[in-house]
Amino acid sequence: MKCPFCGATDTQVIDSRVSEEGNSIRRRRRCQACTKRFTTYETVELRMPQLVKQNGNREEFDREKLRTGFVRALHKRPVPTEYVDEAVGRVAQKLLSLGEREVPSRQIGELVMHELYKLDKVAYIRFASVYRSFQDVDDFRDVLRDLD
Ligand SMILES: [Zn+2]
Repeated sequence: MKCPFCGATDTQVIDSRVSEEGNSIRRRRRCQACTKRFTTYETVELRMPQLVKQNGNREEFDREKLRTGFVRALHKRPVPTEYVDEAVGRVAQKLLSLGEREVPSRQIGELVMHELYKLDKVAYIRFASVYRSFQDVDDFRDVLRDLD
């Protein structure tokens, strides 16, 4: 870490402290050249990847949209809302843990299918065949919408 005062590259960490929430580390540093002190923070960068659609367009991940997809797929199926929320959470978590800046939207479709399979076989069978013939999760959503 360069010294912000003199630009020297030789700085020394003199104190490290984890924040109360445990999600960042605060470091006190001292420049070896000019002896001035400064503070740096280290935090985890957790960002949902952007979805890359089949046509190349980018779209922000939208948890509500994802949830709506599940709700439509499970229309009139005896699956508790709680389970749906958990499935949505797992898909979001998987996307996050990929650590990618961009993910093809069809990959979300696959994750959704995987969760549907665990949630409700009928919903899975009902929609897997339909979804498989589409390349894009948007098409998938459109199909679900049409089936309402
Ligand atoms: Zn310095």
